[in-house]
Amino acid sequence: MNTHVNDSDIQQYVLERSVCDSVIVEHIHNCRDCMTRAEQYAVLINGIEEQEAPVFDFNVVDLVIPQLPVTKPAKSADRWVVLLIAFVIITMAGVLIYYFKGYLKGMMAGMTPMFTYLIVTTVLILLLWLCFDMFSRYRKQMKYLNYY
Ligand SMILES: [Zn+2]
Repeated sequence: MNTHVNDSDIQQYVLERSVCDSVIVEHIHNCRDCMTRAEQYAVLINGIEEQEAPVFDFNVVDLVIPQLPVTKPAKSADRWVVLLIAFVIITMAGVLIYYFKGYLKGMMAGMTPMFTYLIVTTVLILLLWLCFDMFSRYRKQMKYLNYY
């Protein structure tokens, strides 16, 4: 081999000799230049590994926390929105049921009980699923908004 081994192969030789190509290992062992470069890399990598993790000589938390803007808790606003929506929905449902009581009784009388239960169950599941979906989407959007 006329050309020397490239840097990434030498780094691999220093870090993980077991996965290195045998041609590269052989070249490094026979070539003084490449062996020198591998030794330099070994010294460099050992130096990096032995370095202490950088630490500030002052308390960063005490310095930064007072400068951060105070965010208002969003929990109470969330609860009021949910309560308001629930109140409006329940009121509207109550008004509708009150005004269409006669029609509902006539409609129920014409159907078998099994069919009635099936409809009520389906409507309840759909309603719960829609409410849950709407609320989770609202929470997600509010979370995104809080980032900006
Ligand atoms: Zn070489």
